[in-house]
Amino acid sequence: MRKTLIAGNWKMYKTPTEAAALAEELKQAVGSVSEVDILVCPPFVDLAAVKQALDGSTIKLGAQNVYWEAAGAYTGEISAAMLKDAGCEYVIAGHSERRHIFGDSSRDVNKKTKSLLAAGLKPIVCIGEKLEQREAGQTESVLADQTRNSLAGIDNADFKNIVIAYEPVWAIGTGKTATPQIAESAHKFVRGLIAEIAGDEIAETQIILYGGSVKPDNVKELMSEPDIDGALVGGASLKADSFIKLVKYFE
Ligand code: PEP
Repeated sequence: MRKTLIAGNWKMYKTPTEAAALAEELKQAVGSVSEVDILVCPPFVDLAAVKQALDGSTIKLGAQNVYWEAAGAYTGEISAAMLKDAGCEYVIAGHSERRHIFGDSSRDVNKKTKSLLAAGLKPIVCIGEKLEQREAGQTESVLADQTRNSLAGIDNADFKNIVIAYEPVWAIGTGKTATPQIAESAHKFVRGLIAEIAGDEIAETQIILYGGSVKPDNVKELMSEPDIDGALVGGASLKADSFIKLVKYFE
């Protein structure tokens, strides 16, 4: 049985003070929820303040990006060991904003994923097609390429620590949500890919999140699909009331 994970990606929003205040509100409202795993991924500079604010709660801490080298002259970058020491459990790799604004390739995502696993962190590997690719009938080939290349050379034993997030680019921050049927069909396809890469047993336990304009009023129907195991949420994770409603979708 796969446990639902609801993850908030705070993107480049919130100062440390604002982030700590939001974390504090979440802790008061859902800090002892155990039915689902709750995760927040604030900007790097907010990690210490959010970790402190979440202390004593079940809410987990994550980051939004990583550089794959262990240490060195890489001005402006952050290593997996730094994120581990800062209290992170999860780290997003290959978010579409990284892929399409900053040029992260699936090869880069693969190196990030391996460095996170080596540091004992759980990568959230993002994949997803652009609108023109969907309209050209290329969704499955894009997902297959991104999945195979981002996960190339990863030991089967490590898959239990990897989360995949299917995020159709056309649905991120646009208010356009994939219908539960569209999302389910992509998730089922990705689970099939994992079966080809790592075997049926691993595919059956693989957590696959959906991301793209998830909100309190659409979360329940998305989560009721058999291959959707949670959500990666941007906009609706930035306000306490909407994120609280979202993580309580099961009530
Ligand atoms: C995201 O940032 O991963 C995301 C899905 O954003 P939004 O929920 O705002 O579409």
